[in-house]
Amino acid sequence: MNMNYQVLLYYKYVPIEDPEAFMMEHRELCERIGLMGRIFVAHEGINGTVSGTVEQTEEYMEAMRKDPRFSDTVFKVEKSEKHAFRKLKIKVKPEIVNLSLEEDLNPNQTTGKHLSPKEFYEAMQQEDVVILDARNTYEYDLGHFKNAIRPDIESFRELPNWIKENFNEYKDKKVLTYCTGGIRCEKFSGFLVKEGFKDVSQLEGGIISYGYDPEVQGRLWDGKCYVFDDRISVPVNRTEEANVVGECYYCGEPEERYVKCGNPECNKHLLMCEECEHEHKRSCSTECREHEWNRYVKEHEQV
Ligand SMILES: [Zn+2]
Ligand SMILES: [Zn+2]
Repeated sequence: MNMNYQVLLYYKYVPIEDPEAFMMEHRELCERIGLMGRIFVAHEGINGTVSGTVEQTEEYMEAMRKDPRFSDTVFKVEKSEKHAFRKLKIKVKPEIVNLSLEEDLNPNQTTGKHLSPKEFYEAMQQEDVVILDARNTYEYDLGHFKNAIRPDIESFRELPNWIKENFNEYKDKKVLTYCTGGIRCEKFSGFLVKEGFKDVSQLEGGIISYGYDPEVQGRLWDGKCYVFDDRISVPVNRTEEANVVGECYYCGEPEERYVKCGNPECNKHLLMCEECEHEHKRSCSTECREHEWNRYVKEHEQV
């Protein structure tokens, strides 16, 4: 396999005075280099996942490091055999990840302790800790840390309410949170601190960095890690103890293959084996199966 491409995952909470102007400039830079991916820009910073050849991605990191605002940005670099995106999308948003807190907070001022992969690995094995997944259910279901709590949420902005309703009993415990690349936990762990949780820590660099740590090698992770690009999932646990935890939505057999519900108005993420996909026309319900726009039906129509 030729791994001539790289996928970069990065974020930086730093004030950007004129996000609109910055976005235009940044788009020019990315187009000139030839990157694909998606980048969000806000007053509070930048959040991106991009792909390109090794040369292109190196040039991009170089350009970013020349800007004093982003000179210390941490890039998680993954090798890939091709682009992980088909387009380049750069957008200005109110937040670089949408948590929609009633009272927004600055993670440079309020956030949980940052633990390196090794520290996180050790902390997970202590007694009396609570491991909390800060991601959505469809991400958790494909893979997660052993014994992690699974919040019942479909999007990140639902998490604060879920905490208020379900998690208050853990205020005096040591809470360990994690997400894909670390960005969600920056603000979310700050939210926990503000809510009165006494001992909050977050996994620095997220699951992706954890998987690449040469010492830890992804230990205590089961399944795979869901990612928001064409790859859909990446391996984390590089040791032999990695288990498959995903299960087919219909038959319950071990499965790590994601499809989107065939109803374009539903789009629910479903772990589904090929057999069940055909049987149920890639749908989550009878309603979606019979929807007039069902993509599976369209794709399999006899022309
Ligand atoms: Zn099945
Ligand atoms: Zn559906």
